[in-house]
Amino acid sequence: MSKDWHPSTRAIHAGTRRSQYGEVSEAVFLTQGFVYDSAEQAEARFEALGEDEFIYARYGNPTVRMFEDRIADLLGYEDCFACASGMAAVSGALTALLKAGDHVVAARALFGSCLYVLEDVLGRFGVEVTLVDGTDNAAWDAAIRPDTRLVFFESISNPTLEVVDMRHVVKAAHAVGAIVVADDAMATPVFSYAKACGADIAIVSTTKHVDGQGRMLGGAICGPRDLIRGPIEAYMKHTGGAMNPFAAWTHLKALETMGLRVRAQAQTALALADALDGHDRIASVRYPTHAAHPQQALALAQAPVGGTVIAFEVKGGKEACFRFLNALEIITISNNFADAKSIATHPATTTHQRLAQEQKDALGISPGLVRLSAGLEDPADLIADLVQALTV
Ligand SMILES: *Cc1c(COP(=O)(O)O)cnc(C)c1O
Repeated sequence: MSKDWHPSTRAIHAGTRRSQYGEVSEAVFLTQGFVYDSAEQAEARFEALGEDEFIYARYGNPTVRMFEDRIADLLGYEDCFACASGMAAVSGALTALLKAGDHVVAARALFGSCLYVLEDVLGRFGVEVTLVDGTDNAAWDAAIRPDTRLVFFESISNPTLEVVDMRHVVKAAHAVGAIVVADDAMATPVFSYAKACGADIAIVSTTKHVDGQGRMLGGAICGPRDLIRGPIEAYMKHTGGAMNPFAAWTHLKALETMGLRVRAQAQTALALADALDGHDRIASVRYPTHAAHPQQALALAQAPVGGTVIAFEVKGGKEACFRFLNALEIITISNNFADAKSIATHPATTTHQRLAQEQKDALGISPGLVRLSAGLEDPADLIADLVQALTV
């Protein structure tokens, strides 16, 4: 539909459907159901839904459909199913595509809830999961077997910002016919390279950069039409993980400014990494495309920008780290990221608290680790805030 448009144009216009009133701003259809002209029409719709035909909001809704078409177009995928949250998208895609006896290979460095779905949920239903060091191409090659059905990773891991060599993993997975599912939350929809690197499915927690202002939960499963409107839609529409129309409308409006926001936040993230790199109270700093990151070359080969989040280690363990966090004046302590407000998170005691100590050690989630999401404040104020809090 919009193949010649640049991404910032697609983010504003792709998927637009106007009602008979010709409204400029997308309409929010806050309705659960739809009426039919006749019993025959109802029967026909339940047999087969045509374009722009709806029967129930758990299955689909015009505002939600606009959002699905817009984000699929933006990420370069054929279709999308919009979900109630990023985790509804992750768990829905995996459950829809897997069955007992299947083998999955996944990167070990994952968001806590993703790890729960892979380790605890899938195992209970007879799916075998092998976890590997996602930065080690040889480990992927060794773990992917002829019977591997699906491969899962975060393109940039949360919270330690490890980078997966996506082209390599996709090639190894496709060689055995496995489906590649990339959780693309950290890479941001603006600088996403999932499609370019061949991932079959990209999952986006739209709670993050799409909403970008800390209001809405949402998720998107983007991929080929046969999977999205086949097993994924079938599973999602019957199990209740659909996005609500008001969230879809908020997301549509937020997509209009996402490019501007994410570019500014990414620039700030890089400036914050620069400011902390070499500070005498900081043990290490990470931002994928920054020189201090061990995978900088790979990160730059995949995308020009490494997202809006940095990670760093405060010297002196948990006590010194908490003193630093409590002294911050602008940057808030919370556990979300990609908000217009800058947010500092202590993963070891919050998002990754439930992991065993050995798992935290293996993932590099140390007592001094801070994940910092760069907001839209003036970067100079944020740097001053970090520096003053480090002197307390
Ligand atoms: C936040 C996040 C999720 C979950 O998204 P929600 O919208 O909070 O459910 C999944 N994966 C990654 C990598 C995330 O950062």
